[in-house]
Amino acid sequence: MTQQPIVIIGAGVIGVMSAQALAALGHRVIVLDREPGPAQLCSRANAGIIAVGDAQSWAAPEAILTLMRAMAGREPGVRVTRLGDPALWRWGLAFLRNCTRARHDANTDRLARLSAFSRETLRAVAQDLGLEDLLRHDGGLYLYSDAEDLAHAAGAHGANSAQPMDALDRAALFDREGALALAQDRFAGALFSKRDSVGDCHVFTKGAAQDLATRGSVTFRYDSEVSGFDTADGHIRAVRLGDEVITAQHVLLATGVETPDLTRPLGFAPLIYPVKGYSGTWALRDPARLPALPYIDEAAHLAVAVYGGQLRVTAFAEFAGRDRSLPSHRIAVLKDYVTRNFGSAVDLDRVTFWTGLRPTTPAGPPYLGRVRRYDNLWINAGHGTLGWTTSAGCGALIAQAMTGDTPELRNVSARARWLDPI
Ligand SMILES: Cc1cc2nc3c(=O)[nH]c(=O)nc-3n(C[C@H](O)[C@H](O)[C@H](O)COP(=O)(O)OP(=O)(O)OC[C@H]3O[C@@H](n4cnc5c(N)ncnc54)[C@H](O)[C@@H]3O)c2cc1C
Repeated sequence: MTQQPIVIIGAGVIGVMSAQALAALGHRVIVLDREPGPAQLCSRANAGIIAVGDAQSWAAPEAILTLMRAMAGREPGVRVTRLGDPALWRWGLAFLRNCTRARHDANTDRLARLSAFSRETLRAVAQDLGLEDLLRHDGGLYLYSDAEDLAHAAGAHGANSAQPMDALDRAALFDREGALALAQDRFAGALFSKRDSVGDCHVFTKGAAQDLATRGSVTFRYDSEVSGFDTADGHIRAVRLGDEVITAQHVLLATGVETPDLTRPLGFAPLIYPVKGYSGTWALRDPARLPALPYIDEAAHLAVAVYGGQLRVTAFAEFAGRDRSLPSHRIAVLKDYVTRNFGSAVDLDRVTFWTGLRPTTPAGPPYLGRVRRYDNLWINAGHGTLGWTTSAGCGALIAQAMTGDTPELRNVSARARWLDPI
């Protein structure tokens, strides 16, 4: 008798990288997604930075003040609306519990190890799939306007051996990245993370899905919405698509912000809240005037990267439920930044704007492991700001756990009562 397939729900970067890892271990995999193709939601137009240097939990003692300022509308990059949303309050209370120094350090350590491992795994996956040309591995910059903030960040990273960073003063920064000279008065210096990489998450995920489908190791079914599950005695027997039933050996949830919708009828609800972000993507005119390295402008709360003949700028963290509107005042901030800093390097009229909902856990690390009350239900969701960074590593780890191997890393998942975490 042929073995039933492993069913993955979700064809974002997390679902596709999980499928790749399971297929590499010799398993038959079906990936289901409601959208008409891979990487159509949060994995669509993110910044594209494999941001090993940025792998830290938002939940920290200092974050309490930031959250209060955001609720009062006094934090430019962060906004909290929908204060009547019970899901936001449940998430917020759990976030506050993670804001102690000890928990912040433990969660940051998980993210840092996961990110560093994942970056190396992604390089190997890219090689296996023939997609190396879509990635660059020259490092990334974290720019600071204030010398004290820079010194503080350098100290914090110096203490964390999983994230070695070089501090660059203003002269060293402009020496390395001449395209930033226009804005030289704004920056005091930068941290350089040599382990950062960059590439278009959507193009990569699409390429990976195509390759896996062509090889025949993974079947992708789009326009396919999972409506529920058939269960018996702590086992998921089948996945339901309306009237259609697909029996499964194992089921993996890679469903981003929508994960709680599917799991509530199963008796548990992961604390994954949508944190809305925006991006603008401009066609290039003169690439020589643009930075070669991706960077995060820490004062402006913006990420900037160039690849595939385009400049992409992303910004903002809004706690606004599942609202996907593109208000003009947000777009204006992105346009203004690009016009001031790179106006002569891009075609200001050839631009597209996008918004995505980061699936964010209160602790920072994703939920990665087996759901305790079912012997064959697994989760790989809640990757927040770092889903592209951690995708290949999380795919490899969940595939190892699902097939009975010892995962190469342990103690990297967020904790929850319903989860047997990796
Ligand atoms: C502005 C912005 C910038 C970012 N920049 C970076 C960055 O530079 N580096 C980085 O590492 N990360 C970045 N991220 C984060 C990253 O994009 C996400 O963490 C990642 O895309 C999440 O991937 P996912 O596969 O979990 O979710 P998604 O891509 O949203 O995929 C989930 C999929 O599940 C499907 N689905 C859900 N429910 C069902 C159902 N019932 N039936 C069928 N299908 C279903 C959905 O259709 C969807 O396709 C950024 C995010 C934003 C918003």
